Amino acid sequence: MTTPVSRDLFQQVMVPTYNPMAVVPVRGIDSRIWDQNGSDYIDFAGGIAVNALGHGHPALIDALTRQAHQLWHVSNVFTNEPALRLARALTQATFADQVFFANSGAEANEAAFKLARRFGVRTGGDEKHEIVAALDSFHGRSLFTVSVAGQPKYSEGFGPPMAGIRHVAFNDIAALEANVSSRTCAVVVEPILGESGVIPARRAYLQRARELCDEHGALLIFDEVQTGMGRLGTLFAYEHFGVLPDVMTLAKALGCGFPLAAMLATKDAAQYLGPGTHGSTFGGNPLACAIGEAALSVINQPSVLRGVKVRHKYLMSALAVIGKRFDLFQEVRGIGLLLGCALTERWKGHSQHVMRHFLEHGVMVLQAGPDVIRLAPSLIIPMEEIDIGLCRMFETAKTLSLEAD
Ligand SMILES: *Cc1c(COP(=O)(O)O)cnc(C)c1O
Repeated sequence: MTTPVSRDLFQQVMVPTYNPMAVVPVRGIDSRIWDQNGSDYIDFAGGIAVNALGHGHPALIDALTRQAHQLWHVSNVFTNEPALRLARALTQATFADQVFFANSGAEANEAAFKLARRFGVRTGGDEKHEIVAALDSFHGRSLFTVSVAGQPKYSEGFGPPMAGIRHVAFNDIAALEANVSSRTCAVVVEPILGESGVIPARRAYLQRARELCDEHGALLIFDEVQTGMGRLGTLFAYEHFGVLPDVMTLAKALGCGFPLAAMLATKDAAQYLGPGTHGSTFGGNPLACAIGEAALSVINQPSVLRGVKVRHKYLMSALAVIGKRFDLFQEVRGIGLLLGCALTERWKGHSQHVMRHFLEHGVMVLQAGPDVIRLAPSLIIPMEEIDIGLCRMFETAKTLSLEAD
């Protein structure tokens, strides 16, 4: 046995970018996780909307182990079967004609933004390079993606940010109209603001974004890193809203826990990233793509997508009851299995504290900013695990309400 690791070791050997909880999870099945001490947790967090098929799904383990015995990596100098198979499946299942593979959401968005810039400069000259993005959005942590996302806390202190970005208030049609012009190469939107409070876009807003892009010859980019792969009860959020983008980015649940991301585009848009314009060593890795193909085929089944809607209704009403009874949540919102519980006045600003209490009572949840508790569980979380999780949430809320009195 090697020396056991604990939270203390983190402080010693990790760059201090994160501040993880003391609990050290070591094993998971379905939506239940065990820590080093053998305590169990119901996983309503889903690894931040990543573990869309829970933990230890047999189809994913099978895809991974099969591919592990075949071929791990060949480089993009050669074509590989799993990448082409997944690209074909993704294009068959979506508006898109072509795919670029990457390893993270930030990279998929980086590809989308670089594509938008090339497209703009080629079709409208150097002036046409502006990207219009929403305030409080999140697109990843590379310098380009933090510059595009309108959150100063992620972009300040790193020297000059990327220029040519216009930020508009989310869901504000007038602001969009005032900022999209012939200089715009792309409008980028998260169909639901995930990190910033689980706030769904209004359909009219997305429709207007589509119209403005058409009027001004700009690309509409949907960042579906969090909302894609069945999360909303449709395979992708654009289907839920009935608005077609030109470019869509995916990551999180695409590999269900294995690093995998993709930028999908129409052929018209994709042509602007010709040979040599962009690339990635690991993007399209055979192991990742084999898992992605298995994940897509499991998730893209009517029964699974229907199951998301059933679980949505069930969780929404139970969470509303708990929230009301213990004066913890003033609103429960969201679509499918991306849910936000907005904290009441007395708990506002304390989502971290509330989340820690849930964990102590055996439930993993997430924050979405200081005022909102977010749930993004497995799309196939067993109903009995939902019930256990809800019971534990009920007990936690009760304890919290006593603490507040
Ligand atoms: C998580 C997320 C990203 C970033 O993905 P990484 O894999 O962490 O780079 C980008 N956009 C959205 C909407 C996300 O939720």
